[in-house]
Amino acid sequence: MNHNGILITGEYLIVSSKKAPLRHGALAIRDGFVIDTGKKEDLIKKYPNFERVDRPSGLIAPGLINSHTHAPMVLFRGLADDLPLKTWLEKYIFPRERSLTPELIRLATRLSCAEMIRSGTTAFVDMYFFERVIGQVAKEVGIRAYLGEGLLDFPTPSFDSPKKALTETISLYEEFKKDSLINVVVAPHTPYTCNRDILLRAKGLSERLGIPLIIHLSETKWEYQEIQKIHGKTPVEYLDHLGILDERVIAFHTVWLNERDMDILSKRKVNCCHCPESNLKLGSGIMPLFRLLERGVNCLLGTDGAASNNDLDMLSEMDFCAKLPKGKNLAPEVVKAEDCLQMATLNAGVALFDKRLGTLEKGSHADLFIIDLDSPHLRPCFHPVSQIVYVAKAGDVTDTMVAGRFLMKERRLLTIDERALLEEIKSYESRQAL
Ligand SMILES: [Zn+2]
Repeated sequence: MNHNGILITGEYLIVSSKKAPLRHGALAIRDGFVIDTGKKEDLIKKYPNFERVDRPSGLIAPGLINSHTHAPMVLFRGLADDLPLKTWLEKYIFPRERSLTPELIRLATRLSCAEMIRSGTTAFVDMYFFERVIGQVAKEVGIRAYLGEGLLDFPTPSFDSPKKALTETISLYEEFKKDSLINVVVAPHTPYTCNRDILLRAKGLSERLGIPLIIHLSETKWEYQEIQKIHGKTPVEYLDHLGILDERVIAFHTVWLNERDMDILSKRKVNCCHCPESNLKLGSGIMPLFRLLERGVNCLLGTDGAASNNDLDMLSEMDFCAKLPKGKNLAPEVVKAEDCLQMATLNAGVALFDKRLGTLEKGSHADLFIIDLDSPHLRPCFHPVSQIVYVAKAGDVTDTMVAGRFLMKERRLLTIDERALLEEIKSYESRQAL
């Protein structure tokens, strides 16, 4: 860590999705936090001893927060495409997951972190197995993570019972509670793969430790109908009936919702994480994003696992997020570029109970990414947020910083040996019999 501080200057600085971008902006960083923002010439005078990082054609923005990942699933990217969720999970994913080992999880997590850093993501909310290993890798790499050991009624690759996975959640919490980057959440998989007892235990733990509860909810028509068949209630009504829904819950997908469901989500202040590309690819449907935003629901954005997306690129996710509701509602004015950036930044900070996340205001975490505007597809640049949401690709990101530390500088990953990693992945590839 540079105790003297770092001063980053750019062509534009987006301090927050709620503020107008600052032309010739700069920000001063010390000990992992933003200590000042302002005009480049003012800050250069104010902080003469700070290490300078100048990006004359750079657009500096708050780091993107991927609110729904199964990070190690990058190993299954492109393994089985163009199938419905249930077939895809039961025939292709679950059998592969049974043979996962901590070593494979370690390799896969490094690959996912490399991809996220390269596309401007500085934090991710993960639900998977072997989260202890994922936490160790995230810590080594220096990326911010929120980790939930998956709870399911049946044995998982890491634990043979959900009670053991719950005990692991407590143990992970104890291990990482003082860590500045790694956070632990409670992660019951879905209302149809977790029985009532596990759902209630998960809720109890989330309350006792004061940590978020993350769950897939109302993702497919099958789930929507199945839960009604078994419990006589929609998935949202069922969880509400169990007393699970409140502002500490992050519900992934929420595609299948009736009016009453939307009212409940709004009333209980549930955070809804939109995963447009995964929902489209699995043919699950389209979340009623605009309707939820209208009701004041705090909406987030995530990619879901790379096996159903098939990447972890939040820049392209924002593009889908902005365009889908326009097509669905026949209204180009709904869900603006700024709204999508807010879902990928500030709103995640609200859901994760850390107001220093998703913004570069003074006092915030110094989590950011920079894109180089000097590319044919990014000029002219009249509206920087529009360039980020509608144009920028992962390859445009030049620098990514988490907690004041560069994880990528001038397109070079600093905490991952990318060449060695890719060789290992190619060797994994050649061992797979499809
Ligand atoms: Zn998922």
